[in-house]
Amino acid sequence: MHLYIHGGQVIDGTGEVPFAASVLVRDDKIVAVGQEADQQVMHLDQVKRIDASGLTVMPGLIDSHCHLSFDDASSNLEIFHQRRNALSALVASYNAKKVLRAGVTSILDPDSVFANSLDLRDAINAGYVEGPRMACGAYALITGVGGTAGNLIADEGVTGYYRVVHGENEIIREVRRQIKEGVDWIKVHVSGVVPHYAHLGERCSWSQKELDLVCEVAHDMGVPVMGHCRGAEAVKRAVKADFDMLFHATGMDEEAVKAVIDKRIPVCPSLTFQANIADFGAQIGTSQALIDLFKNEIQESVEPMKRLIAAGVPLICGSESGFTAVPYGDWHHREMEVFVKYFGMTPLQAIRSATADNAFAMKMSGELGLIKPGCYADILCIEGDPSQQISLLGETRLIHHVIKNGQQLDLSPLPAHTRLSGWHIPTMGQRISKSAVMPAFN
Ligand SMILES: [Zn+2]
Repeated sequence: MHLYIHGGQVIDGTGEVPFAASVLVRDDKIVAVGQEADQQVMHLDQVKRIDASGLTVMPGLIDSHCHLSFDDASSNLEIFHQRRNALSALVASYNAKKVLRAGVTSILDPDSVFANSLDLRDAINAGYVEGPRMACGAYALITGVGGTAGNLIADEGVTGYYRVVHGENEIIREVRRQIKEGVDWIKVHVSGVVPHYAHLGERCSWSQKELDLVCEVAHDMGVPVMGHCRGAEAVKRAVKADFDMLFHATGMDEEAVKAVIDKRIPVCPSLTFQANIADFGAQIGTSQALIDLFKNEIQESVEPMKRLIAAGVPLICGSESGFTAVPYGDWHHREMEVFVKYFGMTPLQAIRSATADNAFAMKMSGELGLIKPGCYADILCIEGDPSQQISLLGETRLIHHVIKNGQQLDLSPLPAHTRLSGWHIPTMGQRISKSAVMPAFN
């Protein structure tokens, strides 16, 4: 089956300026672009045609940091203790369709509750469920010292999206178990907040030897390793251990920046969460202290990230959707805005990050995220020119067609749903201070 998209302006994902061209798709691949496509189509009988006049034709977006199983959680507490395995997988399959409707045809899901993103990925690939292409980690590996959720981290075992590992045997065993289960990546929370020392911020919670071991065991089986790293020490140790991709990488010092540049390790800053709280926190009742903290995290990233970009280190684009501050479907484009606004990228560079460069996170570099013959036909047709205005990519109403694997998707609105009982953190309401409820007694 052939699909012929004609009359549009193509953004090919390489960073090239848009050009007028048709795109010819056969089955799941792009087979020709431009005049070649126009010529080939004349000899074909069965062709589905899409008139893309006035539209930009570009690779489907890739979101390299999207937790599909979290269901727009408000906190770790909710993720760790309020969720059920099968129900969260079913809910994730609904949210997967929201993601598609935002023009996102691929995601990297770094860690998930009950590691059920692996099941969703396989169900999508087999055609049982409609959703984006997925690359997955399973449980994030974490040490018992506190990790990213402070006191909420248990002393051992699995909770929510993580597994605590103690010592070499447990590290080897868990990495191999996850590889057997089918992970695309091993995820490690290299840094975290140690509860009693929270004032020191996130710190490296692994020894060099332990991180080396994770990489040794994973790489031996050909599986890459990605790390959540905040703070210079976490970045330096992860780089030294041979991590393949870093998330956040905020708080880098001179030495950390140099280490990342030397090995050209792709970095996924994932600052959408912070940017949303910084810009909209005041409207939703976030404390000023938290707003300032997140503003600061963005600001302190500006210089280091600019240096990585100048040195040719790929910035990977991921929104960290899956939380109330970054709900599915709404903000997958936002990281591109952050790259443009704070890191000085042009919109075309930001689009390359979210398409061709992000294919690395899907382990599909060179075959995804490009409008080129031979690449997978994941294509977005959108009104207007995102190379002039990156925010257009956040306007779902402008999206006319989304094509994944050569198949045009049905973008009709999803059915509404109610709240699941027992799914969110129950609350008895605000603090009942006597002065607030019985002012007469003051
Ligand atoms: Zn994450």
